[in-house]
Amino acid sequence: MILEVIVDLSNSEVDRTFDYVGEDMPIGSRVSVEFGKKRLIGFVIGKKETSDYDRLKEAKYLDTPISSEQLELMYYLRQSYHLRYIDVLRLFVPAKLREERDPEFTRKYLSIDGSRSLSELCDVVGGRALKQLEALKYIAANGGQFLNVLIAKFGVSAINGLREKEVVIESSVHERSTPMRTLDKKDKEVTLTSAQADAVKRITGGQGVFLLHGVTGSGKTEVYERVIEDMLSKGKTAVMLVPEISLTPQMLGLFRARFGDKVAILHSGLNSAERYDEWKRVRDGEAKIVIGARSAIFAPLENIGAIIIDEEHDTSYLSESNPRYDTKSVAKYRAHLNGAVLVLGSATPDIETYLNASRGEYGLITLSERISKHKLPEMEIVDMVQEFRSGNSSIFSVALLDAIRDALARNEQIMLFLNRRGFASFIRCKECGYVAKCDDCDVSLTYHKEDNELKCHYCGKRYHALTKCPSCGSDRIKQGRIGTEKVVEELKGFFPNVRALRMDNDTTARRDSYLKILSSFGNHEADVLVGTQMIAKGHDFSNVTLVGILEADAALYFSDYRSSERTFQLITQVAGRAGRAEKAGRVILQTYAPRHYVFRFGKDYDYTGFWKKEINTRLVTKFPPYTKIVRVLLNSTEEQDVVDCTRNVYRAMQSLEKECGKFVYLGAAKSPVTRMNGLVRYQVLMRISPESFGEVMPRIYGAADDNRPKKGSIFVEINPQSLI
Ligand code: ADP
Ligand code: ZN
Ligand code: ZN
Repeated sequence: MILEVIVDLSNSEVDRTFDYVGEDMPIGSRVSVEFGKKRLIGFVIGKKETSDYDRLKEAKYLDTPISSEQLELMYYLRQSYHLRYIDVLRLFVPAKLREERDPEFTRKYLSIDGSRSLSELCDVVGGRALKQLEALKYIAANGGQFLNVLIAKFGVSAINGLREKEVVIESSVHERSTPMRTLDKKDKEVTLTSAQADAVKRITGGQGVFLLHGVTGSGKTEVYERVIEDMLSKGKTAVMLVPEISLTPQMLGLFRARFGDKVAILHSGLNSAERYDEWKRVRDGEAKIVIGARSAIFAPLENIGAIIIDEEHDTSYLSESNPRYDTKSVAKYRAHLNGAVLVLGSATPDIETYLNASRGEYGLITLSERISKHKLPEMEIVDMVQEFRSGNSSIFSVALLDAIRDALARNEQIMLFLNRRGFASFIRCKECGYVAKCDDCDVSLTYHKEDNELKCHYCGKRYHALTKCPSCGSDRIKQGRIGTEKVVEELKGFFPNVRALRMDNDTTARRDSYLKILSSFGNHEADVLVGTQMIAKGHDFSNVTLVGILEADAALYFSDYRSSERTFQLITQVAGRAGRAEKAGRVILQTYAPRHYVFRFGKDYDYTGFWKKEINTRLVTKFPPYTKIVRVLLNSTEEQDVVDCTRNVYRAMQSLEKECGKFVYLGAAKSPVTRMNGLVRYQVLMRISPESFGEVMPRIYGAADDNRPKKGSIFVEINPQSLI
C-alpha cells in the first residue's frame, strides 16, 4: 500500500505529501518515517495503489489519533484560512504525539533516602557543596521531583553529586498528570426559571445556530449545563468554549461538581503530560464534555451534540498568530459536520452575530432578567470636562471619591477599571473633550511621534499634529493615557490606609499570578482591585458593591471601527461585576464624552438600541459586517526587501481590483507600528464586499505566497482585531 504522508518538519515551508510504503492503515494514522537522514513523525492523509516514485521508504505504524471527521475539518481550515497541512494537524494532536517515543513513557524520579534523617543526609553531602545541599533540601521539601526538572533547576553536576553520594533514591514513574486544580464547589440544585426552561427546550429541540442573548447574571451557565446534560442523555458529547481568562478554578469546579470525570479541561496552564492525559481521555471516550479556550474546538470528540461558545463576542476567539483562524466559523462548520447545535452566548453579542440573528439565520433566545433579586446596577455618568472646569484635575471625580469613601466605611469592596489596549494613543482636548478623527473613516487618529503626525490606520491619510484644539482653541490638547500604578498612587493620596491590588499585563504575565490576585481579592485581603479589561470578565465577587470606570471613553478612540462596540461590551461587563449577590451595586462611569451614544444606551443596558445605531453606522461607513477587512502584513529584517514585496502585492491587488470590481478600499503603507522585534513592517489593507470575498480571497493568498520577503514573512488576516 502507498501512503501519502504529511511529515512533521519543524521549520519548513513545505506543504505537500510524501509517498511511503506501509501496511494498510486508516487515514489519520500516525507513522514514523525516515526523512533525509532523520526519523520523523508523519500523518497519513491519503492512500493509493501506485506511486510516481520508486525506491520508496517504509512508514512504520504507530497509532491513529485523528478521526475522519477531523480530516474533513482539516480541509475546511486549509481552504478557509490557507493553512498548511501540518499546522492544522498540530491543532488536533497534543505535543507529546509529535515525538516518537511512547507518549506514556516513564521518567526518572528522585526522592530522598527515607531511611536517614535530612540532617544526616546533609552531613553526608558536606557543608561545602552548597548547590547540592540546596537541591537536597528542595527535593525533601517537595517530596521528590523529576530528574530533568532538577537538572534544569540545579545543574547536572549538583544532581549527579547527590546521586553519587547515594543520598537520593532513583525510581521510574509513569508521568501521570497531577489532578486538575479546581475549587471544590457544591452542585446547586436549582429550578429553572421559565425563561431558562424555554431556552433549554428551544436549543435541545432545535438545530443550527442559536444566539443566547442574556444580561449578566441571567443564568446562562445553568442553561449551558442543562443543554449538555440533555446531550449526554442522548449519548452525545459536547464542547464548551470560554475565554481563557474565565477558566478560573471556580468555573472549573462548577462543571466538575456537576459532571465529575466526564469533563476534560484544556487550558494554557497545563503541561504537556497533563494535556496529553486529558486529550487521551477524550479520544478514548472516557470524557464526554470538553471545556477549554479556543483550541478546545479541535478536541477529538465524536458524535458532538452541542457546541457552546460563552462570551461569544470575546476577541480571544480569533487566533491572530499562526495558525490563524476564527473559532466561531470553525465551530459552525464542526457543528454542521456533526449535526450539532451551536450556541453563542453573550450579554453583548458581536454586532455581526446579532445581525445574523435579526435576519433569522440564527435562532434568537433572550434572557432579559437577572436571577438575583437585584436589578442590574444603576449607572451614573460623570462628565469629566465639567469636573475639570470646576477645578478638579484628579483622576477621580467627586462623585466617585464619595462613593469609594462610603463603600470603604461599610467594609465593602470596590473595583476600579481602566481601559488599556494596544500601543495606539489618541489625541484629546482636556478643556472640551474634542478628539481628532479621520475625515473619511470616522475613526480616531493616532499620534505618531517619530513623524510628528496624526494618522488614520484604516486609510493611511495623514494629518498635521495639533498644537491647539480646533474646536475650542485650548492648548491643553494631548495624548490621553493613565496607568493602573498612577491610579493606586492617587487613591492612596486620598485614602492612605486603603488596601489596593493591581491587575494588568505587568502584574499577570503568568496565569498563576492572575489567579492569585483574584483569590486574594475574593478573600477580602484588599479593598480595591484596580485593573484593565482583565477584571471585566465573568468573576463573581459577592462583596463588590461599587465599580468605577475611570476613562470609559479611552476605548472609544482607539482608531478602530469596533471602538464603540468594544466600549459598550466593556462597560456592560464591568458593570455586571457590581451587586451580584445580596448587596445592591452601583456603577460610576467617568467620561469626557457623556453624550456619546455608547453611554446613552450603555447606561440603560439597552443592547438592541445600541445595536441599531451601530449597525447603521457600519452600513454607512462600509465597515464589517458589510465588508470584510483583509490585511496582508509583511515584515523583514531589511527595509528594501519588505518594500519590494509590498509593492508587488499592491500591484497584484490593483489588477485583481480591475478584474473583480472595485474594492471599497485598497491601500499600502508602513504598518502603524513600523518596527517590532527588529522587523520592519508594511501592510496592504483592503475592504472587500462580502459578495466578492469568496472569489478574491484565494487570489490574495496566492499573491501572498508569491511575494514572501526573503528575510521575513507575510501573513493574511481577515478582520484583524487591531491594525498595529
Ligand atoms: P450569567 O452567566 O448569565 O452571567 P450565571 O450563570 O453566572 O449568569 O448565573 C448567575 C447566578 O444565578 C449564579 O450564581 C447561578 O448559580 C444562579 N442561578 C442560575 N440559575 C438559577 C435558577 N434557576 N435559580 C436560582 N439560581 C440560579
Ligand atoms: Zn477643545
Ligand atoms: Zn481614514
